[in-house]
Amino acid sequence: SAKIIDGKLVAKQIREEVGVEIARMKDTIGVVPGLAVILVGSRKDSQTYVRNKKKACDAVGIKSYEVNLPEDASEYEVIKHIATFNDDPSVHGILVQLPLPRHMNDENILNAVSIEKDVDGFHPVNIGRLAMQGRDPFFVPCTPKGCMELLHRSGVEIKGKRAVVIGRSNIVGTPAALLLQKANATVSIVHSKTKNPEEITRQADIIIAAVGVANLVRGSWIKPGAAIIDVGINPVDDPASPRGYRLVGDVCFEEASKVAGAITPVPGGVGPMTIAMLLSNTLDSAKRIHKFK
Ligand code: NAD
Repeated sequence: SAKIIDGKLVAKQIREEVGVEIARMKDTIGVVPGLAVILVGSRKDSQTYVRNKKKACDAVGIKSYEVNLPEDASEYEVIKHIATFNDDPSVHGILVQLPLPRHMNDENILNAVSIEKDVDGFHPVNIGRLAMQGRDPFFVPCTPKGCMELLHRSGVEIKGKRAVVIGRSNIVGTPAALLLQKANATVSIVHSKTKNPEEITRQADIIIAAVGVANLVRGSWIKPGAAIIDVGINPVDDPASPRGYRLVGDVCFEEASKVAGAITPVPGGVGPMTIAMLLSNTLDSAKRIHKFK
């Protein structure tokens, strides 16, 4: 049966490595990395994500700056705050928590973030560079970067292999496919309009599933020995759990773990990697800006 890829453990290792580097930078050149987070509105899930990011920053020694704006704030107000952080030398990373209120245009806002401080990697120029051969973005989006890190650290070979990404969102599926391609895999993307997706996924040595449909990927979709990265986080009813539900991935773990060579669990797979990658991106940004090796 499949080797379990322990994202919780890998994320912990990365947070420790980041903490050590931050201490070294502070001791050597007196610089502390700073991350600015802009939250618009009062979505409970977004507030939780922002709180978790702040906690993670505190734990590794990144100084965090937070701006909370009301739901009815104007695009101009958000962009004004971004511009202030762009010019602030103590801030090395800027992120705008998505989703934004409906009256705002995401692209206008993401375009306002300096590409050199865009630690979420969502600026259209950074995405464009990710898509270009021979060019590199300043930053890669955190969740797909976390998927790649899990593959690398589990010793999964990527070069020359067949990879299938299920899902084509801007924040996970599409950048994941671009990253696999940059790592010299032959990549297919399966999405909501794909016919017979299982015929395609069965050819894959590597599958990254980022769909948002509980247990979509069955054992019969998987080539024996394949490496499976399951990004999905889906609540399903579970009367036996104290909360009344539990979280499952896009991959049917019970079936897949009998066929695959390696697989991430949900929870405890990709989930913990996202914030670890944000911390790592923020450190990299501070290092680059201060030319610290
Ligand atoms: P999304 O809804 O933006 O995109 C889903 C994609 O899946 C779309 O491109 C769509 O074409 C495709 N799709 C939908 N139904 C399909 C089907 N039946 N077969 C094949 N493809 C189908 O979602 P997202 O933001 O990319 O997130 C995907 C999942 O990953 C969600 O469960 C989300 O909660 C999870 N997620 C986890 C993390 C993390 O672990 N840190 C981060 C982001 C998202």
